[in-house]
Amino acid sequence: MSEPLLEVTDLVKHYPVRNGVLRRAAGIVHAVDGVSFSLRSGETLGLVGESGCGKSTVARSVLRLVEPSSGRIRLDGTDITHLGKTALRPHRRSMQIVFQDPFASLNPRMTAGDIVGEPLTVHGIATGRDRQQRVAKLFEQVGLRGDQMRNFPHQFSGGQRQRICIARALALGPRLIVCDEPVSALDVSIQAQVINLLIDLQRAHAFSYLFIAHDLAVVAHISHRVAVMYLGRIVEIADKTELFQNPRHPYTQALLASVPIADPTVRRLKPLVDGDVPSPVNPPPGCSFHTRCRYAIDRCKIERPALREAGERHQVACLLNAGTGHTQ
Ligand code: SF4
Repeated sequence: MSEPLLEVTDLVKHYPVRNGVLRRAAGIVHAVDGVSFSLRSGETLGLVGESGCGKSTVARSVLRLVEPSSGRIRLDGTDITHLGKTALRPHRRSMQIVFQDPFASLNPRMTAGDIVGEPLTVHGIATGRDRQQRVAKLFEQVGLRGDQMRNFPHQFSGGQRQRICIARALALGPRLIVCDEPVSALDVSIQAQVINLLIDLQRAHAFSYLFIAHDLAVVAHISHRVAVMYLGRIVEIADKTELFQNPRHPYTQALLASVPIADPTVRRLKPLVDGDVPSPVNPPPGCSFHTRCRYAIDRCKIERPALREAGERHQVACLLNAGTGHTQ
């Protein structure tokens, strides 16, 4: 099998919490706490979990928009974890992001054509007529008309603004696009159109998506594999069908039980979890899910479970063979 396009190993991102006038250190937010995964060319990995579980911090760390505390990020065989600004520049072309709120991520004073064409100028790829032609082609690829290049962001609908963001992400011919909740700010009727556009573009260009979302139905539609995050860690990762039909981690089971999925083949499960997510400033010892897990035993309060094989291309971080109560 070929080398993965993206390889993330034991990624950690901690933020200090400061209090009072003197801004004394009062604790540490464990935003990401030892995350590892890989992503092949042309593959989509869905990263799901509740708000605050660290999935967006993983995305921003991968893109080096925030500096990891430790761990390693390899893109196409190159370790980019500690590359300086200049050395990172060619790799930045290969990695793009589409944010959740298209309006906030577009400069309201620039025309849509200038927004999409800006990366071509910044990276010295095209100017003048050449740039205009490339931008017109990008507009066509995302389902916008060429004459809309002259319009400003406020003259577009929410779905069209996200198409502008996607066109801008495509401009430099990326190999990896991080989609950070790209449809959650859109009307439900528009969400499917944008997701289908992303799927069509991937088929045409074979790039990879790291797709962040809290909506499992959306993730199920676009992903090849799915990783479930809880309190800064991946607790389960598997091929999409395997994960949805045979969830092994109690948290994944709870997530699936709480989301309506329009697929009669998916087994419905009773809700298995109570209470709120603990604070990432003071995560529980042992298995961080033990405060909410109906299967928890004393050992779960002490021992931190590692991701272990639980089937073909299926890994679970649980000390029990979840759902059966048998120890591993
Ligand atoms: Fe639940 Fe224990 Fe498994 Fe954690 S390790 S998910 S607490 S059974």
